[in-house]
Amino acid sequence: MIIAIDGPSGAGKSTLGKLLAEKLNLLYLDTGAMYRAVALAVLLEEVSARDHEEIIEIAQDSAIELRGEPKKQRVKLNGENVTDDIRTNEVSQIASIVSTIPQVRKELVRRQKELGKASKTGAILDGRDIGTVVFPKADVKFFLTATAEARAKRRFEEDSAKGVKTNLKKTLGEITRRDERDAHRKHSPLQKADDAIEIDTSEMSEEQVFDKMLEEIEKRGKG
Ligand code: C5P
Repeated sequence: MIIAIDGPSGAGKSTLGKLLAEKLNLLYLDTGAMYRAVALAVLLEEVSARDHEEIIEIAQDSAIELRGEPKKQRVKLNGENVTDDIRTNEVSQIASIVSTIPQVRKELVRRQKELGKASKTGAILDGRDIGTVVFPKADVKFFLTATAEARAKRRFEEDSAKGVKTNLKKTLGEITRRDERDAHRKHSPLQKADDAIEIDTSEMSEEQVFDKMLEEIEKRGKG
């Protein structure tokens, strides 16, 4: 079984993806972590975000591994644990820039398809183009949304809990900038698949969204 979860940043995709993957014993693939890993490699190699040729090469040559149980998933870049390093605001912005390059997408989509298909029990993938490009025939597709304010508030609370110094206005600005780029890029923009189930999570608790998603999966006889 393949489950696709798409939507803008901060709508709850990864939290819900992990919970559902554990419940249903599926592989969890955070595809955003792969774009982030490429972005980190670009930063570490001090390559300009405008140097597409070099970035494409980095994407093709980087070994990216997603390891461990969904809730404790670790991300490795060329053998190094980069789980925390890929979560900075700088990496978020560069990830959304490198993800506009078609050859970078092509490389990562190829790997995502392979990883998803290789899992015997099936997989849950979260991203922006899972239901439209990576697995257009996914068994169940979700499109999670929330107002920009609700998403910024969540991200701000997450950052504050981690000890990151920021403020709500700055977080809202960053989220809006990234959404703008993700929704308007030429290749595989953030888009709801026609057959995706849309859930606005702004006013819902994690538990409510989880129950609703599980209900939809079971309705399709996949639970
Ligand atoms: O999901 P997350 O916020 O970690 O993703 C980081 C960035 O990677 C997004 O802003 C987006 O530009 C890009 N991305 C993408 N396609 C995906 C997943 C993420 O373009 N399937």
